Amino acid sequence: MSTSFPNSLLKTGLFDLLYPPFCRLCDQKLTTDEIVFCGACLNGLEATYIRNWIEKITFHDWLDEVYSGWFFDEKMQIIIHALKYDEMVVVGDLLGTRLAEMFRDTLFSLQLNVLTAVPLHPVRLRERGYNQSNQLGEAVSKHLNLPFSADLLRRCKNTKSQTNLTANERMDNVTEAFKSIAEPPERVLIIDDVLTTGSTVSACAAALKRSGTKFVAVLTAGTPYFHGLDSQGKT
Ligand SMILES: [Zn+2]
Repeated sequence: MSTSFPNSLLKTGLFDLLYPPFCRLCDQKLTTDEIVFCGACLNGLEATYIRNWIEKITFHDWLDEVYSGWFFDEKMQIIIHALKYDEMVVVGDLLGTRLAEMFRDTLFSLQLNVLTAVPLHPVRLRERGYNQSNQLGEAVSKHLNLPFSADLLRRCKNTKSQTNLTANERMDNVTEAFKSIAEPPERVLIIDDVLTTGSTVSACAAALKRSGTKFVAVLTAGTPYFHGLDSQGKT
């Protein structure tokens, strides 16, 4: 799988500084076509092998279908951390390309009009410099040649971090946090990095559906182990 690197980085040698040629998971030397993580580690991630798992999600009232690529184990945690906090935009490309391949048939069967991503509040976006979910979404879009728009949803409340909140606190925290554009497309896929209770994507879907969207599916890279599903992905 190819990842495109900015030529200017390659020329200046900054590239090695930003992306040392060792896998962040196993410390093995990377080959010339690998970046940040080696192919063996990425291939070894624990895929969920699950289809639509909406029934197991705490908050799914506004959602129609939900898919997640891999379980959020220690390795996945390191990968998402690199994507989210270490500004490794290429990680979004790596994961998004693989996600697109895993869910190619499913995504085409959903007859989507557009892909979008959970937006960050403008203040958070300025702090972080980029939206990690956009990176994922754009990679899926590019790989499957499906349209992507980062402008369907706007985050109008700068919500506090969901990390240490209970499920109900999470929902209260994000309710009314999102606004949709007027007359959004009918069938939308929202892409995000990790799905836990579903509160954030459900709030996004609520905003879209109140404005006229008929169908909202969700695709995330990671999900924690959840009740009723063992590590082999069998229910
Ligand atoms: Zn590795």
